[in-house]
Amino acid sequence: MRFRIEKQDGFARLGKIGEYTTPHLIDIRDEDEVEFFEALTERRPPEAVRRILPETYKAFLKSGMIRKAVTGNELPKDKIEIILEAGKGAKPLYVPAIALPWNAALLIYAGADILDNALSLKKAYEGIYLTEAGELKIESLKELPCSCEACMNREQYRNDFEFLSEHNTLILQKEVKLARTALRNESLRELAEMRVKASPETTSMLRIFDRVSDIPFARFRKSSVYPNSEDSFFRPDFRYYFERLYETYDPKSHIALLLPCSARKPYMLSKSHRRIRSALGSALKGVNEVIISSPFISPREFELLYPIAFYDTPTTGVWSDWEVDFVAEKLAGLLNRFERVVAYLHGGYRKVAEKAGDMAGKDIKFFEDLKDLRRVLDNEEKENFDLYKEIFRHMTRYQFGVEFEIDRVRGRYPELEFLRGERVARIDPRYGNLDIYAPLATYLKEAGSYTVEIAEFEVKGTIFSQGVLNADEKIRPNDVVVYYNSITTGVGQAVIPGKYMGEVDGRAITSRRKIK
Ligand SMILES: [Zn+2]
Repeated sequence: MRFRIEKQDGFARLGKIGEYTTPHLIDIRDEDEVEFFEALTERRPPEAVRRILPETYKAFLKSGMIRKAVTGNELPKDKIEIILEAGKGAKPLYVPAIALPWNAALLIYAGADILDNALSLKKAYEGIYLTEAGELKIESLKELPCSCEACMNREQYRNDFEFLSEHNTLILQKEVKLARTALRNESLRELAEMRVKASPETTSMLRIFDRVSDIPFARFRKSSVYPNSEDSFFRPDFRYYFERLYETYDPKSHIALLLPCSARKPYMLSKSHRRIRSALGSALKGVNEVIISSPFISPREFELLYPIAFYDTPTTGVWSDWEVDFVAEKLAGLLNRFERVVAYLHGGYRKVAEKAGDMAGKDIKFFEDLKDLRRVLDNEEKENFDLYKEIFRHMTRYQFGVEFEIDRVRGRYPELEFLRGERVARIDPRYGNLDIYAPLATYLKEAGSYTVEIAEFEVKGTIFSQGVLNADEKIRPNDVVVYYNSITTGVGQAVIPGKYMGEVDGRAITSRRKIK
């Protein structure tokens, strides 16, 4: 039997083990199910046993396709470490006796493929009724806040334990199914974030998880992003955005104009940005715009990228000190790329810019009136640049780490196509990245960047992992990649990280087009 991965987002995976869809919840009251998974699970006695009783260690060692991460009363930090350590590699991960309705999404997000209801049954024995939002003592309940089968038919149970075992299992099962759905929709992070707030332990587990650097999460996703709390600010995909922003932002001009964000994305199509841009007219030529929001900083060149084109923040107009500090620090990192910085900002936005100016030791000139701003920009010596070409140049740097010359842009913003003679790339608004065609794909193949070498076969739609010979380790799920063998070359979308390709079963790449 093998583990087939069908979709991956970060450490979370949707897969199949035999007939079972993972993430899966084992009901330990079901002997057949327990036996099925037990037979596949490897067994490793504690490491100390290896030293003291090597013979016993060997006798108890059992290999298997499923890896197990056993946690007990550790601190949240250690729990996360145990799960992450065991989750390394391509084997499915079973984390027993820990799942509860409010931590299931988090455990799955952290890499658990298999969970069980052991802890929920223990809670039932203790007279505890579980909900997604926390636990309740059964005797304190005036009514049952759930309409599962057990709750609708409570009188059929002989005692509280039997009733609670059933309800606690059903609510946990529902949560695992919800996490599977969220994984398919690429919104598992949002679900995990929502649920962890039910307990300080899960909240700290998520925060610790966010400090891990090497997470194979998608860089481009087709879902909306809701940074609803300060915990969202440290999401791995957001952290990646800021790192890449600093690495790849290469403004053409010496002058930056700071602008506030808009609810509508991309910013450029919003009413407020259209108004500002039309009031400034040709004075804006040769000026680099940088847009401030919470929690992002986005140069105009990055506004079509994920997550900038995809987020929606709860706007109250009130910025907390904490928020001001967070965004100011991000902005300060960019200010020294300019000789002059001007701003058209109010309220919290202005506070952010003032603070960033202090941090970077940069004088920012603030304007209240667009006419004044226009006059100043008009008098500035500057060299015009083609904004759409700059958008392409920055997106290529961000997405592929290369530069590629184009001669023409066509289409209606944001649906742009980039050409060098023939079509090179186009904006893919579904994922917030570039989809690419022959000239750029050939260039990447030669550079060995985002490439996958496959065995000698005819490609039809899906490339399975077992057909992959070599894959760039940089590749993450949803990345646009170039696959090739001696007969064919094509562009596709990665399903799993490059480092798992060839190691696991299931789909590795969905082909979009052949170019040779
Ligand atoms: Zn119920």
